[in-house]
Amino acid sequence: MSDTYQPGATIGMLGGGQLGRMSILAGRAMGYRFRVFEPSKGGAAAMVADAEVNAGYDDPAALKAFAESCDVVTLEFENVAREAVDTVSNAGPPVRPGANVLHICQNRRREKEFLKSNGIPCADFRVVASTDELAQAVKELGTPCVLKTADFGYDGKGQVKITEADADFAAIWAGLDMPLGVVEAWVPFQAECSVIVARGPDGQASTFPIAENIHRNHILHQSIVPARLPQSVLDDAAALALRVAEAIDAVGLLAVELFVRESGEVLVNEMAPRPHNSGHYSIDACQTSQFEQHIRAVCGLPLGNPKLLRPAVMVNLLGDVWQNGEPDWAALLADPDVKLHLYDKGEPRPGRKMGHFTVLKDTIEEAVAAADALFAKLV
Ligand code: AMP
Repeated sequence: MSDTYQPGATIGMLGGGQLGRMSILAGRAMGYRFRVFEPSKGGAAAMVADAEVNAGYDDPAALKAFAESCDVVTLEFENVAREAVDTVSNAGPPVRPGANVLHICQNRRREKEFLKSNGIPCADFRVVASTDELAQAVKELGTPCVLKTADFGYDGKGQVKITEADADFAAIWAGLDMPLGVVEAWVPFQAECSVIVARGPDGQASTFPIAENIHRNHILHQSIVPARLPQSVLDDAAALALRVAEAIDAVGLLAVELFVRESGEVLVNEMAPRPHNSGHYSIDACQTSQFEQHIRAVCGLPLGNPKLLRPAVMVNLLGDVWQNGEPDWAALLADPDVKLHLYDKGEPRPGRKMGHFTVLKDTIEEAVAAADALFAKLV
């Protein structure tokens, strides 16, 4: 079986959100066809796909039929059960990234243990399964520290910061309401950043310019590129992300989120084996976007040049921006250096990622100032 799927092939997409949508838009430009597998009908990805299948990930017959209609299958969110991925790959088409990568990235315990066993720097941690273990972990790691669910955490959901050594551990443990947690030492960071690595089935790999990420309420607010960090830190971050991608044997994209300590030391926070919100800037600011790169990597094609063409700031548009009705997009676009992306997701609920815009300027300082001013006018 060849590792390469030339344009014209049909790519299956597990998951129907905006990451799938933007991957499909990039792949269609190259002549690929797309089928989306997603439980609910008419999502952001299905709208731009050739076909959608609405069935559950626990429906092996539907997964098998879907797999048989695709040449290669990828995904746009990592919480697809291993059994579902196995059902798809047993039916023929390769799934990229593979089940092993997903299995590690789906669960914080496995992710942390993978990093530790590969000697990759990350925050010190303990795995806990009871109030007593939580109390012991906090004693060992000190405060502040943070308790996170082992499974299905994202955007700060299922996380509790513990600041007191004599906190009410029984209440905190009960509040988590999960069988397993991971307690992490608090990392006093000077910056958070992320590196998106693209890696083909033959192991060729390349990194996107490093994004400096600003979060609000645990959700990404802005990505600033180039990150305002010394070159030596950027080089370390890229090298670390490449090491992670090699060690996990990623195929497709691997987004590696990092903490940068005051000393400049870089630690891995977490990984996502798919396109990432912090890489959206690349659509407008890079020679090759993360979405095109994802398609190239998954299809075994040579990777494109991810060179940054202009300093850029990406700003997320959450549903909150709609609180006074539809925002004035014309006012936003009055700055000719703004590119607007809306995902056509329907109801703009608070916290829901509805779109983003990217501002491109000659210097990063100008881009940050323009992004802040434009965002302030929208809300
Ligand atoms: P996560 O979902 O693990 O990426 O956490 C969401 C956000 O919480 C991160 O982007 C950080 O801003 C913050 N955070 C999480 N873990 C830590 C930690 N160990 N030390 C400091 N800040 C953290």
